[in-house]
Amino acid sequence: MSSEHPETRAVHPAVVQPAGSRPLSVPIYQGHLFAFDSADDMAAAFDGPQGAFFYSRLGNPTVRAFENAVADLEGGTSALATASGMGAINAVLMSLLRSGDHVIAQSCLYGGTYALLKDLAERWGVEVTYVTGDDPAEVRAALRPETRLLYLETIANPTTQVVDLPALIAEVGDAPDVRTVVDNTFATPLLCRPIEHGADIVVHSATKFLGGHSDIIGGVAVFADADVHRRVWDHAVELGATADPFAAWLAIRGLATVALRVARQNETALDLARRLAAHPAVARVNYPGLPEHPQYELARRLLDGRGGGVLSFELAGGREAGRTFIGAVQLVSLTPSLGDVKTLVMHPASTSHRQLDAAALAAAGIGEGTVRMAVGIEHADDLWSDIAQALAKL
Ligand SMILES: *Cc1c(COP(=O)(O)O)cnc(C)c1O
Repeated sequence: MSSEHPETRAVHPAVVQPAGSRPLSVPIYQGHLFAFDSADDMAAAFDGPQGAFFYSRLGNPTVRAFENAVADLEGGTSALATASGMGAINAVLMSLLRSGDHVIAQSCLYGGTYALLKDLAERWGVEVTYVTGDDPAEVRAALRPETRLLYLETIANPTTQVVDLPALIAEVGDAPDVRTVVDNTFATPLLCRPIEHGADIVVHSATKFLGGHSDIIGGVAVFADADVHRRVWDHAVELGATADPFAAWLAIRGLATVALRVARQNETALDLARRLAAHPAVARVNYPGLPEHPQYELARRLLDGRGGGVLSFELAGGREAGRTFIGAVQLVSLTPSLGDVKTLVMHPASTSHRQLDAAALAAAGIGEGTVRMAVGIEHADDLWSDIAQALAKL
């Protein structure tokens, strides 16, 4: 239907649909409404996470492209992109748990996840048993008839503990109502694909390695099973936690180079870990790629022979040395987060974990002089020059 009136024509520009060619890269579908030709087509669209698009909180072509790409990398059937990593974790936990349920979780968890589980316990009556993640027998002992979730992280922060996913998941494998959720943010699907080891759901903070440039907040949950996806999607849509198309578009752009970035970050992290381990100011280095790491053999199997892009090290001079070191680096940025093209450093004892005393820090596997470094893609020699001059100030 055409109209002569500019007021109307200004509101109804024709939507250009490419004919005979297609965009080579995924376009940003910023518009959030999709129109139908018939009432039946529209009715069919209300049919769950894989239905036709109609309103972007429920699904969007740019967001779907990101979801499909991550589902493919993780070896899942489908995925749900969210506004943040915590959005994905929240949507998964809130949709699969109810009052009276029991969760088995690794004790060294991302802080936001730990806070969410604490909240679910205090306000919603979800019981949580924490296990170290080092021993399958702990999971076996914790299992109850009410257990609904096993929650793990492939590589823990900042200890770089590597969790034996196949062995731990096998402990709940026969329990039909227990689902395993793995936060694979630190490992990325390039190093480990938890669904191949029996996980039901993989969650990511796409803010980190997948996005890779510290310019988006985003998350994604990948599902082995379409029915579980449906349940989590229902809740994510109610929660309003789904992803924005522009963030999804930047994440797709990030994915294009994730394999290159991760390879480089892993190579440089191993190089720096070795140099740090040989430095007199450094008491210990935690990096799964070093033979002295307690799970070195496991890491070789589980992480495709690599150690990840994050390492931590304990300065011999303790808390004061940690503070001095992070104040002295120049090329390396003093900031939380990880997975960026730039190298980032932080001192948990004086920042993220400053409320903890020495005993509580030790229980979390963090020393007063522990420094966490998330390695970027700069030249290793330039990074080492900066690190060495900062170490020289201790
Ligand atoms: C950052 C992070 C999260 C939370 O992700 P946001 O995108 O900040 O919400 C969850 N898990 C891990 C392991 C993280 O590093």
